[in-house]
Amino acid sequence: MPSLGEAQTRRVHTVIVGGGVAGLSAARVLRQAGLDDFVLLELEDQVGGNARGHQMGGLPCPLGAHYLPVPGAHAQAVAQWLQELGVIHHRHGRWVGDERHLCHSPQERVFVPDASANAGPAGVWSGQWHEGLMSPERLSREDQRQFERFHQLVRQTAQVCGFAMPTSQAPWHAGHQALDAITFAHWLDRAGLTSRALRWYLDYACRDDYGASLARVSAWAGLQYFASRHDVTQDGWQDEASPVLTWPEGNAWLTRQLGQALGERVHNGHVTVQVQASRHGVQVWSWSAHTQRHVCWEAQQVILAVPLFVAQRLVGGAISALSAEASRPHHAPWLVSNLLLREPLLDRAGAPMAWDNVVFTSRSPSDVGIPALGYVQARHQSLAMPVGAHVLTHYWALGGESEQQGRHWRQALMRDPWQTWAARVVADLSAVHPDLGDRVARIDLMRYGHAMAIPGPGVRGSAALVALQRPQGPQGRIHFAHADLSAYSVFEEAFTHGVRAAHQVLSAAGISRRII
Ligand SMILES: Cc1cc2nc3c(=O)[nH]c(=O)nc-3n(C[C@H](O)[C@H](O)[C@H](O)COP(=O)(O)OP(=O)(O)OC[C@H]3O[C@@H](n4cnc5c(N)ncnc54)[C@H](O)[C@@H]3O)c2cc1C
Repeated sequence: MPSLGEAQTRRVHTVIVGGGVAGLSAARVLRQAGLDDFVLLELEDQVGGNARGHQMGGLPCPLGAHYLPVPGAHAQAVAQWLQELGVIHHRHGRWVGDERHLCHSPQERVFVPDASANAGPAGVWSGQWHEGLMSPERLSREDQRQFERFHQLVRQTAQVCGFAMPTSQAPWHAGHQALDAITFAHWLDRAGLTSRALRWYLDYACRDDYGASLARVSAWAGLQYFASRHDVTQDGWQDEASPVLTWPEGNAWLTRQLGQALGERVHNGHVTVQVQASRHGVQVWSWSAHTQRHVCWEAQQVILAVPLFVAQRLVGGAISALSAEASRPHHAPWLVSNLLLREPLLDRAGAPMAWDNVVFTSRSPSDVGIPALGYVQARHQSLAMPVGAHVLTHYWALGGESEQQGRHWRQALMRDPWQTWAARVVADLSAVHPDLGDRVARIDLMRYGHAMAIPGPGVRGSAALVALQRPQGPQGRIHFAHADLSAYSVFEEAFTHGVRAAHQVLSAAGISRRII
């Protein structure tokens, strides 16, 4: 227990701990419902959590999350808010993104490094960039057949089980439980889906959304990705025009909109160190980096919008479901590197620079081994190709193929000096851009030890995760809101948990106005 010392005591109805997407969305709902007596405590100097932004040479760039698909039919809360912001509007029964916020074409391209890594007819596709991640003409007949078979199985499973985004909109049942019990790799083996091109593509998708390989995520997660958030066309090929909302600073644009509306209720530089609930109220202890003092917030309700392992440290062993969940070693480390380039790179043959630029390989040319995810060109919304200085954002999900591999790279991420990691990033990118080293003016690294929960077998279906979505602690004064509760870290999940937790607070306060 922190010593009271000279701690200031302040009274407030609700404390929100954590200013990521979940905490901010909870705050929005409280405010809209007229519950203004709350504070949001955030340990960093800016809100946003994993969806924060950065600047290099005066140019905005993401520090973490960088896009949000245009919401589908189930994502009502997210869609309503985006509509309020003017980011999307309703047309002919579906949500359509405003041009100013949509990713422009070309959205994706892939580089095929050499003939040995080639999925298609030897030599034809190597050494060049190609538009889109996978398209039928680049594949052998057997690869094409397996892609189509995979998408057919996704559609069939979706009809039987149901998948939705946010995931809470598809009630969990025995079909999901069976998929949650095995790895995605196991499920693919069982279906006889062994095509190297297909496996590379699915592995890339898992590393991109879950931070780890298809050997680590559950079959539920692997299918969820394709059945809900990432559109596929009827014939089974990824719809290249699948609309995506994005900004030069990534999803920090979104979290800034949420944060700005909260004004003085947001306290940055406040690290929460302990939470104690009793029948009479909740005490939340925070340490202000600005005043160098503890503050004791006496409240009626608390929303813990922090990762579950942090929440566990705050409340101790008081909540058994939390203790059970927080002890699972299932978070992926990530490295996000922003590279300020003095001038544009010389491009290789083939498709021009896209928003997302990926390399078709199953190993990184650096000593890391785990392939990186490629890079995003933050100014993609400008129709002109970059001239002069610009920023590339390189993403490396390091959860790997096993818990041991993930642990190894987390330790290396924290231990190795920044120069070592910067050299690894340059080595990774130089394989496709040999002139990169000469053009880099500066590299800023963001290391995430526990970036996101990996939905490995048994994680999503855990009863403890379900329990934590209900009010906890004496008189139900503690409410959890974080993407960890879905074992699936994306904007829509975090946002929806914030909305749910805020409604629990409103209901406890006797405020029943329905806000989504
Ligand atoms: C590298 C990366 C790329 C991603 N890309 C995408 C993407 O493109 N699209 C997408 O939809 N999703 C993406 N995601 C996932 C998405 O960013 C997350 O799902 C979402 O931002 C999680 O929000 P959250 O509020 O649940 O958690 P967090 O972002 O973890 O927020 C928790 C907050 O709590 C604060 N906090 C922690 N401890 C304390 C404490 N003791 N006291 C006070 N405050 C505390 C943290 O500083 C943080 O601000 C990405 C994630 C990462 C890491």
